[in-house]
Amino acid sequence: MSLLRDMPERRFNLLYPIGTPFTYYPNPGIPDGEIVVTDSEAWKTAKGKVVVKVRGRIGGVTVSKLSPLDVATCTVCGCDDLRACIDEAGSPCYWVQVNRLKGTGICSHCAEHLNQMNTFGEPK
Ligand SMILES: [Zn+2]
Ligand SMILES: [Zn+2]
Repeated sequence: MSLLRDMPERRFNLLYPIGTPFTYYPNPGIPDGEIVVTDSEAWKTAKGKVVVKVRGRIGGVTVSKLSPLDVATCTVCGCDDLRACIDEAGSPCYWVQVNRLKGTGICSHCAEHLNQMNTFGEPK
């Protein structure tokens, strides 16, 4: 993991637009991360910490506890973390199966292809 220590908020905002996925490590030294998606630009608090809002959480998280995540791509339709595909009903997809290490997955709209794939997301 490479944490974003001492990253100025302006640089963070240039590199990582709103909606960028990260792994969030709430407890320093513990490699158990949680996938989060930013929901605001980063800003500096009165105490000089650079924080950003993430979806589903109240308040900001410190960017020094975030590690950039490689974007995962659906091996069937090619949608990814930043560009979900939308079905006829207008709802965006989510991951049914995702391998964060390889950066590949199967999204909910392609889930019917799941049983035609092996565990590596390749056609059988
Ligand atoms: Zn898909
Ligand atoms: Zn999709």
